[in-house]
Formats: sequence, structure tokens, C-alpha cells
Amino acid sequence: MSGPRIGVLALQGDVREHLAALAAVGAEPVPVRRRAELDAVEALLIPGGESTTISHLLRELELADPLRARLADGMPAYGSCAGMILLASEILDAGAQGRAAIPLSGIDMTVRRNAFGRQVDSFEGEIAFDGLDGPVHAVFIRAPWVERVGPGVTVLAEAAGHPVAVRQGRVLATSFHPEVTGDRRIHRLFVDIVTSRD
Ligand code: GLN
Repeated sequence: MSGPRIGVLALQGDVREHLAALAAVGAEPVPVRRRAELDAVEALLIPGGESTTISHLLRELELADPLRARLADGMPAYGSCAGMILLASEILDAGAQGRAAIPLSGIDMTVRRNAFGRQVDSFEGEIAFDGLDGPVHAVFIRAPWVERVGPGVTVLAEAAGHPVAVRQGRVLATSFHPEVTGDRRIHRLFVDIVTSRD
């Protein structure tokens, strides 16, 4: 039995680490750089990196509209850090006009880009994560935080008084980077969301 075919948006950022983490929890991960590749996957992971650069490439490759349409159609997705920013419906401090990060509206939420970065660039710590059997070692790198969530959104973890992990239906987002630790519980949670039928 093979696992679900999950795409990793492979334009920029932590692509290799997420491909490895998904394979480690039994999925069949594939890099996505083109429209045909997006059409062929069941779900999509959007990695951390730089949301304005990923957005620029999404525009150049004409992937932004197809990706927004798949999300609107219910495709399961997981976004980490820059990926969380792109999954938002509204982005604060989105970047310079014409180069700004694109809100793909996978989750009804407002995120602030580089929110932690204004104080400290990077930090890590143990945080409680709803539904997991113990704290997660969360690594934040110029991370966003969530400033508003819509009524359908569940907050799974908080740091510095703000949500840093959220879920709406079959779309999950974290402002930290589970792919850089050996802990595969968040990738496993995503695969469980993809394979669940509710
Ligand atoms: N600050 C980055 C951005 O705006 C996100 C950082 C990350 O993904 N590690 O996209």
C-alpha cells in the first residue's frame, strides 16, 4: 500500500527537508513546480523560505490562480512559516508593492509577516500543541504570527501571546519549522488529515 501523493511546492526554501520528512511518515512526496504537477497531487505542502520570492515565482509561472482554485476546492494543505503566510487570507507587512506576498486564502486568518523578526530574528523553545502527546520543539526563523482567525479556525499552539499553529478543515499552518528537527509528528498529522475521509 503506498501513501498519499503529496506535492511540495519546490520554487524556493526548505523543499528537500519536507520531501524527506513526508517520506519518513509514509507519504509519496513529489516536488511541484508546474501546473501539471499541481494537478497531479492530492495535497500540497508549502515550505518555509521567503514568501515574497515564492510569490514572485508563483506569478511568473502562472501558478497562483490554479493554486488558489485548488485550495478553494478543498485540497488539503500544510504551510510552514513562509507557507503559513501564503495560506492566509490577509497578510500584514506583505512586502513592497508589486513584489508582495500573495494571500492564497487557504485559511481565514490575518498573519503578520516577520512579526517575531522585529524583536529577535530567530528563537526556539518547547510549546504545547493541541492533539499531540507532548510539547513540540519549535524553531522560529523570521517567523510570522497570526493576528486574527475566522470562526472556522482552530488554534493549536501559541507563542508570545499569538497563535503559531492553526487548522481550518483540512488546511494546517505553523509559523515554525518542524522539518529542521527530527520530530515528525506534525508531518504525520498532515498525512493523517490528507488520508482522513471526513
Ligand atoms: N520571513 C519570511 C517570509 O516573509 C519567512 C521566513 C521563513 O519561512 N523561515 O516569507
